[in-house]
Amino acid sequence: MQVFTRVATLQAWRKRLRGRPLALVPTMGALHDGHLALMKYALEEKYATLATIFVNPKQFNDANDLIKYPRPLAQDLHLLERLARVAVFVPPYDEIYPAQEASPRPIDLGHLTQQLEGSFRPGHFDGVIAVMTRLLDITQPEHLIMGQKDFQQTAIIDEMIRALALPIKLFVHHTLRETDGLAMSSRNQRLGPEARANAPAIYQVLKWAQQMKSEGRSPNDIVQSGEMLLLEKGFEVDYVGIVDALTLQDLTNWPDSSRSVMCIAATIGQVRLIDNMEL
Ligand code: AMP
Repeated sequence: MQVFTRVATLQAWRKRLRGRPLALVPTMGALHDGHLALMKYALEEKYATLATIFVNPKQFNDANDLIKYPRPLAQDLHLLERLARVAVFVPPYDEIYPAQEASPRPIDLGHLTQQLEGSFRPGHFDGVIAVMTRLLDITQPEHLIMGQKDFQQTAIIDEMIRALALPIKLFVHHTLRETDGLAMSSRNQRLGPEARANAPAIYQVLKWAQQMKSEGRSPNDIVQSGEMLLLEKGFEVDYVGIVDALTLQDLTNWPDSSRSVMCIAATIGQVRLIDNMEL
């Protein structure tokens, strides 16, 4: 397996692909089947597939969360090796943020970055935009593969690609879940037994919301009851929201033409979980 740590060697490899389309799959490692599904999708599409593993300090607003973030690199590389034909970029910090290079002019996507995750994690999406701008610039992929699990992130990157008119196609892969519905996440490893047993309540609320929508309940009503259900299960709730899939604005009525997505962020057993579902 090709493992690169330096931009220069990665770019030499990228040149050797000649016309073959490249798919980029950015990750922060601690890989699970959700991540691997993104890479398998790219391989099935016959794209040259590059996974990146970089725990991006700029997108952590909580220093403790950054310290605790799992980094099982040897295990990750082993998993990727088993996929075969995936190249991997594991850059040190200064390859992503070289001291001598001016940061690119930040793009203002404030209308998408302030709400939901943005209101609870100040600066988070500035960090995401910074790392994605750099990764896209270095690798110049034709395809970018991301997960629906981080729905707001996909909406922001989609808008960034459009705003900068980048020749990149974004593919959003559905969320992979454990058998009890809990969305796979690197953070799940930190759930204790009791918190792990209660964690699927987030999924249950999302499924319940789908049902309630079909029965004609209003977004507001569903949001309020959903939050109550999570509080009863012992969650601290950051937000439960039902938003327009493109504008990320809260919905008060069900729109006729646009998609609506329910988004949840809640903490259980000191682990903050996020999930979402189209309703
Ligand atoms: P992360 O390492 O958490 O930054 O995630 C890297 C990529 O994998 C992002 O595009 C995530 O949305 C995606 N991802 C994370 N968890 C899942 C999951 N359970 N199902 C599908 N994609 C996921």
